[in-house]
Amino acid sequence: MVNSSTKPICEMYAEAEHEQVVLWTDPSCNYRGIIAIHNTALGPAVGGTRFWNYASDAEASLDALRLSRGMSYKCAMAGLPFGGGKAVIIGDNKTKDREQIFRAHGRFVESLKGRYITAEDIGTRPSDMEYVALETKYVAGLPGHSGDPSPVTARGVFRSLQACAKHRWGSDDVTGRTVAIQGVGSTGYNLARELHQAGANLIVSDVDQEKVTRLVEEFGATALAPSEIFAADADIFSPCAMGGIINDNSIAQLKAEVIVGSANNQLLEPRHGEVLNVMGILYAPDYVANAGGIINGGRELLGWSTDDTLAKVQDLYQTMLDLLNQAKAEGIPPFRKADQMAEARLAAAKK
Ligand code: NAD
Repeated sequence: MVNSSTKPICEMYAEAEHEQVVLWTDPSCNYRGIIAIHNTALGPAVGGTRFWNYASDAEASLDALRLSRGMSYKCAMAGLPFGGGKAVIIGDNKTKDREQIFRAHGRFVESLKGRYITAEDIGTRPSDMEYVALETKYVAGLPGHSGDPSPVTARGVFRSLQACAKHRWGSDDVTGRTVAIQGVGSTGYNLARELHQAGANLIVSDVDQEKVTRLVEEFGATALAPSEIFAADADIFSPCAMGGIINDNSIAQLKAEVIVGSANNQLLEPRHGEVLNVMGILYAPDYVANAGGIINGGRELLGWSTDDTLAKVQDLYQTMLDLLNQAKAEGIPPFRKADQMAEARLAAAKK
């Protein structure tokens, strides 16, 4: 899930500059969890709960630290009144014995008295959040509320992709452009649908062959094996699966001029963003492009109407375009500019 770290956990916490990192155990149901609160200057920390069989506590900690920091930056760039947090539960997410685990998690969330609001992430689902809600009100993503965020996230990625096209080729019309999508699950499928409707050609890969077949049949996509997607003959590469996939190995294969997708933490290390910049490949910062999911949460957490929410997601086009233009004017990679802008907003809010 993340790179393993050889650093002692306390050292990792000290370096990460988080406000609070809490460990919680409940031996009665074998629950072990970590909640990382990165920054609450803009508002309560929001971020989903990831349920994963981590190889070590250090790996789980690193995931919580990185993901919660990403949430702070994502909310800051999207102009949302939220901070960044993330929870991880260490264990087998296929377990059927969910009530006690998620009630224990709910008590953990409640202990933070609203400084952290949770929701779903990888390995958790709306029904798990119903158990969490039995113990705390600081939970979103409940059935019948803001619903599956994936179509909204995909719309934001599509708008960001249009902004990248405008910046790179002078037009946001994607007709005839070829987009290679890695991972056609919830967000990747919805992005493919939007692109197909807009006249783009699709190349897709997924480790789940059934999902690929669906895209071939519905949208006339060309299928590639997962190992071949980086080298696809495409204008745009869209990572919509796991993080860390922009690395030395994948960069050496890339043919696309633009990278924009839904996946979190796409760069394995910051230096890979620098390499892309030197190669002239436009990398759209992931946490700006995929902010639609947390914007969708505004319906549940802030009482926004559906129309207001969609208008804010449409605005990601301008947010991305402004960011790319400013980065170009300053001669720095867009992911560095995004970090600078987010950090400035967090610092101003703290004052
Ligand atoms: P998902 O599980 O529905 O889809 C991911 C897909 O990727 C699956 O179909 C899976 O089989 C496939 N996959 C996994 N490894 C692969 C590989 N090596 N090659 C090709 N395909 C592979 O997940 P999702 O909700 O679409 O999320 C995708 C990414 O976007 C994640 O990184 C997630 O954190 C991020 N994200 C999602 C949302 C959202 O609203 N769902 C919001 C923000 C960010």
